[in-house]
Amino acid sequence: MKPLSQAVSSVPASGIRRFFDLVAEMDDVISLGVGEPDFVTPWRVREAAIYSLEQGRTTYTSNYGLLELRQEIARMHATRSGAHYDPAREILVTVGVSEALDTAFRALLDQGDEVIVPEPCYVSYIPCVAFAGGVPISVPSRAENGFRVDPDDVRARVTPRTKAILLSYPSNPTGAVMDQAGLQALVDIAVEHDLYIVSDEIYDRLSYDAPHVSIASLPGARERTILLNGFSKAYAMTGWRIGYACAPSHVVEVMMKIHQYTMLCAPITAQLAAIEALKHGEADVVTMVTDYDNRRRLFVAGLNEIGLECPSPGGAFYAFPSIKRTGLSAEVFAERLLQQERVLVVPGDVFGPSGEGHIRCCYATATSKLIEALQRMGRFLQSL
Ligand code: PLP
Repeated sequence: MKPLSQAVSSVPASGIRRFFDLVAEMDDVISLGVGEPDFVTPWRVREAAIYSLEQGRTTYTSNYGLLELRQEIARMHATRSGAHYDPAREILVTVGVSEALDTAFRALLDQGDEVIVPEPCYVSYIPCVAFAGGVPISVPSRAENGFRVDPDDVRARVTPRTKAILLSYPSNPTGAVMDQAGLQALVDIAVEHDLYIVSDEIYDRLSYDAPHVSIASLPGARERTILLNGFSKAYAMTGWRIGYACAPSHVVEVMMKIHQYTMLCAPITAQLAAIEALKHGEADVVTMVTDYDNRRRLFVAGLNEIGLECPSPGGAFYAFPSIKRTGLSAEVFAERLLQQERVLVVPGDVFGPSGEGHIRCCYATATSKLIEALQRMGRFLQSL
C-alpha cells in the first residue's frame, strides 16, 4: 500500500498515552496524570444547556459562533484584561482551544515556516505546528529561571523563516507565569522581526499570586496576536469542547475559512452553556480557583517535605518537582512509582527535553487523595 502522510507519520505518539494504558489495568491508582478539573461543570451551566435542549435548540449556528457568545467573550476580555475585540469580526468560537490551535497554525504557516516554541510545553504544540507544515523550533526554559522562557533565548532562534512565537502562560506542565516585563520583552522581539504571537491563555483564571497579564493587552501586541482561550479549565467544561480565538479581523477571516470547511461550528449546546458560564459563572470560578490554590499550597509544601524540590508554581494546576536527586530518569521514576505505589504522574520529558529530571503532578484532585499520594510518594523515595 502507498505510505500514509509523512508529515503525520513522522510525529511520535504522545508519551502520556503509554502511562494511561498501564493505569487502565490497575486498581487503586491515585492519578495525578490527567490535566483535568475534578469539579463537575457548575449546575447553572448544565441547567442552561438542558433547558436549551428542552427548547429544541439543536441546530447549526453561525460559523463564527453565536453572536451573543462572541459579545460575552468580548465583554469579558475588555473588563478583565483591557484587550478589546470586535465580536462581529475578531472572535471565532471553536471546538476547544485544541481546534483553535490547529486552525491558527494552518492559517499562519506555509511549508517550512518556523514557529518558536518554549518548552517544556503542552504536548499538542509541536505536532500542531508540524501538521500545518511548519517547523517547530524549541527553546528550552530552565528550572533555575522558574521555567519562564528567556527572551534572549527566543531572540537567538529568530531566522528569516520565523513566522510566529507560541506562548502559553500560566504553563502546562510547569505552572510558570510570566510577568509583564518578560512578556513585553517577547512582544518587542515579535515587533522587531514582524512575527505573529499565538498565545494560549487557557489557564488565565488559574493565576494565584498575581493577576494574569494577557499578552494582547501589551503595547504592540494586539495586531499580531492570536489569543486562544476556552472553558475547559476555569469552568470545568472539558467535555463540552468549547473554546475561541481572538485576533485581528484579517486573521480571523482566514481561520474562519478552515473552521467553516472542517468544523462548521462548535456545538450549539456547548455555546449556550458557555454564554451562561460567562454571564453568571463568576462565583463558581472563584470557588474552584480558591480550592485549587489551597491544594497547590498543601501539595507543593508536601512535595518539598518529602524531599522533592518544587518551587511554588504561580498558575495552572500542575506542580513540576525535580526528581534529579533520585538519579532516575523521569520515565523510570514515573513507571516505578506507578508499579510500586500506584501513583500516576507524567514524566517531564514528555513535554520536551528540558522537562527531563522532573515530573508533572496535576493537583486538581481531592485533598484526601493528594495527602495519600504524598504519603505513597514519600514511601517510594525512601525505598530507593
Ligand atoms: N492548551 C493547553 C495549555 C492545555 O493544557 C490544554 C488541555 O490540557 C488545551 C490547550 C486543550 O484545551 P481544550 O480542552 O479547550 O481543547
